[in-house]
Amino acid sequence: MAHRVLIVEDELDLVNLLAINLNQAGFTTEKCQDGSQGLTLALSGQFDLIILDVMLPGVDGMEICRQVRLTDQQTPIIMLTARDTETDRVMGLEIGADDYLTKPFGIRELMARVKALLRRASVGVVKEELKNLVFGNFIIEPMSHKVFSEKHEINLTSTEFDLLYYLASHPGQVFSRAQLLDAVWGYNHLGYEHTVNSHINRLRSKLEKCPQGPKYVHTIWGVGYKFESIEQQQ
Ligand code: CA
Repeated sequence: MAHRVLIVEDELDLVNLLAINLNQAGFTTEKCQDGSQGLTLALSGQFDLIILDVMLPGVDGMEICRQVRLTDQQTPIIMLTARDTETDRVMGLEIGADDYLTKPFGIRELMARVKALLRRASVGVVKEELKNLVFGNFIIEPMSHKVFSEKHEINLTSTEFDLLYYLASHPGQVFSRAQLLDAVWGYNHLGYEHTVNSHINRLRSKLEKCPQGPKYVHTIWGVGYKFESIEQQQ
């Protein structure tokens, strides 16, 4: 079945351009130019991916993203930001977007991001072959996309899950931000390293009792990140 993509963007030319390209690539699209209507659609759970402009009439894209993440951790979200400020990009990622693009962007770039996100979000043959990772009471289950810490389930977005799974599949190994972008997001573009930092911050706030003294996801200053647990892998 064709993937369903919701596009919430108030610029008519852009929303049409995105829809045409997505349709040509075999996706089903729903266009929406208003924030309030976009929020209702985004919360409907009918879509496999959401493309979300930040500046919208009615409810803005940040608020839509925030509300979607309160109820749904899994649907991938790409934010489109016009403002070339660090704060804006960081905010979208901190509230749960999986990726972002700064306007103006190339349509091919957007299509690559959409495809990479959908490829990872679909639980398919590849993931069924992946085995659970068990570190004492900390368990990562790739088939169900679930993580348990001391029997409590931790809700992660699909990108947070993939990042954690990748790091934890190579315990003790240090990865640079560029390597993680390449491995988890499926691209490696200069200037997008902050996407990794934000996801690490979100992972820590969900996984770690004390994010300042993490038990699992460690920063190696000047290099990158690694997963290491004091519990032995079982
Ligand atoms: Ca706009």
